[in-house]
This record gives sequence, structure tokens and C-alpha cells, in this order.
Amino acid sequence: MNCKQLDELLPLYAGRDLDEKRARLVSEHVQICSTCARVAGEYREAVELAQHFTPPVFSDNVYASVRRQVMQQIEDKPTAPLVPQMLLVGSGPGWLGPPPAR
Ligand SMILES: [Zn+2]
Repeated sequence: MNCKQLDELLPLYAGRDLDEKRARLVSEHVQICSTCARVAGEYREAVELAQHFTPPVFSDNVYASVRRQVMQQIEDKPTAPLVPQMLLVGSGPGWLGPPPAR
């Protein structure tokens, strides 16, 4: 197993999509090769980020100012008249309900 071969397997390894045999080869290699270990770490991070997406952490100040801006934008909007259709949801044809039974 050389670095070039490993390069193709690392994304799969990070996503735990490798079979046991290949996964073991990869994990053995990353223990002795710092270059691949680093790449594997980056893939693993990307995978974990995608799996457990957490919003970026704002400091309280940034959050407060963003919040203020958003609230201001909402308040600046002219109040839209109530759309009559909105009131009919639930009493109209059951387009929100389950599909008709066959
Ligand atoms: Zn390597």
C-alpha cells in the first residue's frame, strides 16, 4: 500500500465505506505515514462536519448585532395583508393530508 493508492481510499476510509480489509490497510498506513494521516484527518473532519452539521459559533456581540439587523429588517417590512388562502388551509381539499387510499 503506497500513498497514491491510499489517496483514493482515504475519502472512503473517512466515511467508513471501506471493507474491513482495506480499512485495516489504511489505518496501518496512516499510523506510519504522517502525510496520509493528515489527509485522513482532513477527510474525517469534513465527513464529521457533514454528519453533525453545527452552525458556526458566533461571539455574543456578533450574534447580538446580527439579531438586531434581522429584527430591524423584519420591522422595516410593510405589514402584508393576510392572504385569504392562508385561512383556508385545513378546511380546503386535503392537499396537506395523506394521499388518497387506493
Ligand atoms: Zn502515505
